[in-house]
Amino acid sequence: GYQRVLEENRKLYNQLQDLKGNIRVYCRVRPFFGQVNNAGIVGSLEEGSISLIIPSKYGKEGKKIFNFNRVFGPTATQAEVFADMQPLIRSVLDGYNVCIFAYGQTGSGKTHTMSGPNDLTEESVGVNYRALRDLFLLSEQRKDTISYDIFVQMLEIYNDQVRDLLATDGSNKKYPSLTGSQNGINVPEANLVPVSSTSDVLNLMNLGQKNRAVSATAMNDRSSRSHSCLTVHVQGKDLTSGSHLRGSMHLVDLAGSERVDKSEVTGDRLKEAQHINKSLSALGDVISSLAHKQTHVPYRNSRLTQLLQDSLGGQAKTLMFVHISPEPDALGETLSTLKFAERVSTVELGAARVNKESSDVKELKEQIANLKAALARKE
Ligand code: ADP
Ligand code: MG
Repeated sequence: GYQRVLEENRKLYNQLQDLKGNIRVYCRVRPFFGQVNNAGIVGSLEEGSISLIIPSKYGKEGKKIFNFNRVFGPTATQAEVFADMQPLIRSVLDGYNVCIFAYGQTGSGKTHTMSGPNDLTEESVGVNYRALRDLFLLSEQRKDTISYDIFVQMLEIYNDQVRDLLATDGSNKKYPSLTGSQNGINVPEANLVPVSSTSDVLNLMNLGQKNRAVSATAMNDRSSRSHSCLTVHVQGKDLTSGSHLRGSMHLVDLAGSERVDKSEVTGDRLKEAQHINKSLSALGDVISSLAHKQTHVPYRNSRLTQLLQDSLGGQAKTLMFVHISPEPDALGETLSTLKFAERVSTVELGAARVNKESSDVKELKEQIANLKAALARKE
């Protein structure tokens, strides 16, 4: 029946994903503020593509289509967004290294996706909290076969310097060094806190938030000019074989990608802008060389890529989540965000795609035929 066909469809789709490599690119458009039923510059939106309406002043007038592994529109809920990322996140408990990062200009919705809005509710909590809650749930389900220990670190990178957001007075280094991986832990000097419940997680998130806020008073909204990273380390012990596994996941809310007009800023602002620029292009270079299977991957060009190194490339799974705003005023930045995404993307036009909404067996069978053909071609 339908369930079996759907399952086969999913299985083939996952095989195809594996063949395509471990870099996925998602896109999320936030709502157009203040104007209900106004899509702004968004023309049409489908599961794997989005079209934008480009006015003549940005070059060739007309619609331009961008393809992604997945596109979320303004009405997508936090739960829907998380549901799509869930298999990736769960693979941490199988010993994979995962990196999920939110990219986009300030105000495009990165923090909304990763943390949620300021007034958090059960529905509005973001990926970070949902990810940990789900890991607890799954590890509980597996507890008769595997025993898991889960730890978190929270770091900030500001002006190419790493700061421990969980440092408590005197106990740790506030500015830990990147010494290279020790037992899979990249920043051994930073606080590594065991967590076993969602309330542990909330407490740590509050502490991290408070530590970040301290500097925000000195510098207006530093949060959009630094990268923040929640790292989850997992250690598992197979209770029958006694074998161990280790997985880790970085959940990164990147600094705003907007270009800063060099003629208008000086001093600290200019320095910040240069650091952001440098680290984001270093990240783009790394992902791009991985996506295009180049032999040299330039991890060492920034602290950001050094920090994420273990979770980018090799067997690691990477999800780049680009965020755009539908406001006409933001179009210039939106196009440059999409260009960045395109540069690092391996998503092909017209590739076989599973329509998960489909409930029609005939349609699913057609998709299965397409997926099999794509697998045979090793696309
Ligand atoms: P960024 O972190 O990229 O600077 P924010 O996440 O702070 O952007 O989003 C800017 C504003 O837009 C916030 O008030 C946020 O709550 C709101 N917002 C962003 N994305 C969404 C969304 N998908 N649905 C509703 N509100 C959103
Ligand atoms: Mg933000």
